[in-house]
Amino acid sequence: MTTHTTRMLIIGSGPAGLSAAIYGARAGMQPIVVQGLQPGGQLTITTDVENYPGFRDVIQGPWLMEQMQAQAEHVGTRVIWDTIVDIDLASGSPFTATGDSGDTYVGDVVVIATGAQAKWLGVLGEQELGGKGVSACATCDGFFFRGKKVAVIGGGNTAVEEALYLTNHSDDVTLIHRRDELRSEKILQDRLFANPKIKVLWNKQVTRFLGDPAGQGLASLELKDTVTGAVSDFIADGAFVAIGHKPATELFKGKLPMDENGYLLVEPGTPRTSIPGVFACGDVMDHIYRQAVTAAGTGCMAALDAERFLAHREFEAGKELPSVAAY
Ligand SMILES: Cc1cc2nc3c(=O)[nH]c(=O)nc-3n(C[C@H](O)[C@H](O)[C@H](O)COP(=O)(O)OP(=O)(O)OC[C@H]3O[C@@H](n4cnc5c(N)ncnc54)[C@H](O)[C@@H]3O)c2cc1C
Repeated sequence: MTTHTTRMLIIGSGPAGLSAAIYGARAGMQPIVVQGLQPGGQLTITTDVENYPGFRDVIQGPWLMEQMQAQAEHVGTRVIWDTIVDIDLASGSPFTATGDSGDTYVGDVVVIATGAQAKWLGVLGEQELGGKGVSACATCDGFFFRGKKVAVIGGGNTAVEEALYLTNHSDDVTLIHRRDELRSEKILQDRLFANPKIKVLWNKQVTRFLGDPAGQGLASLELKDTVTGAVSDFIADGAFVAIGHKPATELFKGKLPMDENGYLLVEPGTPRTSIPGVFACGDVMDHIYRQAVTAAGTGCMAALDAERFLAHREFEAGKELPSVAAY
């Protein structure tokens, strides 16, 4: 078993973690990134990405994450394939974490970038058609369905917001909900019902996604009426599963403050958690924007704050300030 010691321990290797690593490495903090079970994060399970700045043409999510990792390593980050299974935050800095491998990680600061996972229905065809008509992110993929017929599945705020957003691209949006009323806020419901581009199918459960015979994409959704049991087919070019997200915060339960859905709470407008030296960035602390570029932005903020935290502490301790590389 090995002990890995670093000034900056980063948990998670999505856009937030790798952006923190790039900034941290360039500030001389020799970061270690522990990748977790999904090296590269959520973008590795999608195909086309058209909204990450810097690329005129559509790029591939996995390729983008390979580039971010290569950049982070190039400037001095160590990326380790392991998953953190335990962490002691209560004893203060330096913080000690344990990996699934049995290795120990000791970091003067910790950057939590463990992200979130979209919840899926778990029905036939959903995985196979992911990125080929079935999506969990209207902001990310709505643009690909301009002028087409789309369905949104869900009944909470996320679903209503996704349906409203999709009317920017489509005049034919159908919200499919398994109950006869929505759970979302009243004001959102008012906007939904007032929008002529949106229809609602009540009491319908999606039981399967069906692809077209040519294998090009989604053809239809199989629906079951939750009252009568009748099965029907709903033709759509795109389907957006909008039943919420689950932040990866099990590890921090009882150790850091969270909201009612398990998102880490930070000081507003900053990546600072309630424990000095522990920072959170990306989707794990952001249930609103959930984009690669916002995750990267807060990753940058976490690294800048981490560097300032260490510089301040070392100054207070009468030590010589570390040389700070240009950001
Ligand atoms: C299908 C899909 C398509 C998308 N398309 C777009 C798009 O086109 N444009 C866009 O901007 N956004 C898109 N998004 C959203 C975007 O992917 C996320 O907003 C972004 O990836 C969040 O980055 P993150 O670094 O916060 O977390 P994530 O990308 O979720 O990464 C979390 C990381 O934490 C690691 N981790 C978790 N637990 C542990 C642990 N215990 N120990 C160590 N590591 C751990 C994981 O392995 C992973 O590496 C899409 C999302 C999905 C699901």
